[in-house]
Amino acid sequence: MRFVIAGGGTAGWMTAAALSRFAPPGTRIDLVESEDIGTIGVGEATIPQIHLFNAALGLDEAEFLRETKGTFKLGIEFAGWQAEGHTYMHAFGSIGRPVGLLPFQHYWLRAKQLGFAAPLQRYSLNELAARTMRMQLGRRTPQSPELAYAYHFDAGLYAAYLRRYAEARGVVRHEGLIQSVERDGEGGDIAALVLDGERRIEGDFFIDCTGFRGLLIEGALETGFDDWTHYLPCDRALAVPCASGGDFTPYTRSTARKCGWQWRIPLQHRIGNGHVYSSAMISDDEAAATLLANLDGKPLADPRQLRFTTGMRRKHWNRNCIAIGLAAGFMEPLESTSIHLVQSAISRFLSMLPAGKSDPAMVDHFNAQAAFEWTRTRDFIVLHYWANQRVGEPFWDAMRAMELPGTLTAKLAQWQASGFIHREHEELFTEVGWFQVLAGQGVEARGYNPIADALTEEALRDLLGLTEAELVEEVRQMPRHIEVVEQMVRGATA
Ligand code: FAD
Repeated sequence: MRFVIAGGGTAGWMTAAALSRFAPPGTRIDLVESEDIGTIGVGEATIPQIHLFNAALGLDEAEFLRETKGTFKLGIEFAGWQAEGHTYMHAFGSIGRPVGLLPFQHYWLRAKQLGFAAPLQRYSLNELAARTMRMQLGRRTPQSPELAYAYHFDAGLYAAYLRRYAEARGVVRHEGLIQSVERDGEGGDIAALVLDGERRIEGDFFIDCTGFRGLLIEGALETGFDDWTHYLPCDRALAVPCASGGDFTPYTRSTARKCGWQWRIPLQHRIGNGHVYSSAMISDDEAAATLLANLDGKPLADPRQLRFTTGMRRKHWNRNCIAIGLAAGFMEPLESTSIHLVQSAISRFLSMLPAGKSDPAMVDHFNAQAAFEWTRTRDFIVLHYWANQRVGEPFWDAMRAMELPGTLTAKLAQWQASGFIHREHEELFTEVGWFQVLAGQGVEARGYNPIADALTEEALRDLLGLTEAELVEEVRQMPRHIEVVEQMVRGATA
């Protein structure tokens, strides 16, 4: 098989690295990219699944952190999403501990009704560590609980790192502008990419990683796009790096603004910032002024604007082409999901790797899985907007009044009725993630599972009190985040 990857952003080089690692011997892999066009140049926060990808490639963690100027991420702080001044965290890892059949949320909800539940953060190892700027790799003692973590990193540096990896394993890179996409006259499959100077790159299978352009999947194959702007109306972002004050937080911050929200992502050498907003509700100038007025340090460049439409391709796999990354669709980075969706598409593709012509049964299955993953991730992002209590602000009032996707309405109704959360099939976000956002934004559950009443009130107090005391003590003994990063990067350089 000859695979041709169009585009060399994060998506293109992640795909090239994975194919070069796992495709059978004899496979030819070409990648075409254009320095004149460049890459999107943002994308700095990830979720813990990134470990699976890096581990599958056999990357060394310390080297990876050094090469990408990475830091550790224990979760996302949401500031002002419920109301101005209020914060909560969607922290990775577990919350509290289950008892018997029931997850912790039911015990917490019962304790809340009885009036003695502490805020959720007191039962989250990750949030306690994040808020005190601590980090611990692995278990501190064999009995200690373990932090779940992801990274903040420079996605451009990550792509460059993976390029070296892929080229060392035989991927052939072609620099040049794709001017047209040639289709096979009989069947309609893609036959070749035609570059400037009339070079032709032929292949059996094409992977569209050309970013928002979607040159192959849309430009050539006219696959169609499901527009989700009615759920997620933000359509622009301004991104700017700023100087860092030194010690950096082991978490991403997302702060609600008048007509959108602002991200803050600390890397080793700078802080990445951006303002995601709805251009129908606020001018670019006002959005830029808001962003620049809310930086930790001196801006290191002028704000750069990015425009997007939220939604996804009707098919991610069409004929002999799959779209990965921004070519497949876009969801704002509120829960840092884009790089994960790239990784997940790659692993799904590898598990169904074609050995010849694409088989319709495999194509349909791939597309059904992709659609499920994307729509459920979208629902989770929509929840954050809908569950705001910023009454009197037109943008936020409209978000509370929106008609929700049916899949989300069902989830909300279950939670409100009895604190029940169900993770369907391979939905990306777990029950614990949904619990934190629902509780964090004040979506009330009217009840809880009555099995939680089997504990006496005293035993319930003990469960909560002991859990909290153990976690607080554990975190107290952890090193500071900055020390762990510095030690790893020094170790990798040595
Ligand atoms: P691109 O980086 O745009 O790469 C496209 C490639 O195609 C380039 O190499 C380009 O040269 C090539 N190309 C295009 N046209 C041609 C042509 N005609 N000829 C030759 N080559 C061509 N994701 C996260 O996981 N976390 C985040 O925090 C995050 N934040 C984001 C913030 C914003 C505002 C945006 C817009 C995105 C964010 N993302 C984030 C998404 C993330 O940036 C992307 O998913 C990721 O970088 C992958 O991009 P890509 O490779 O698909 O596209």
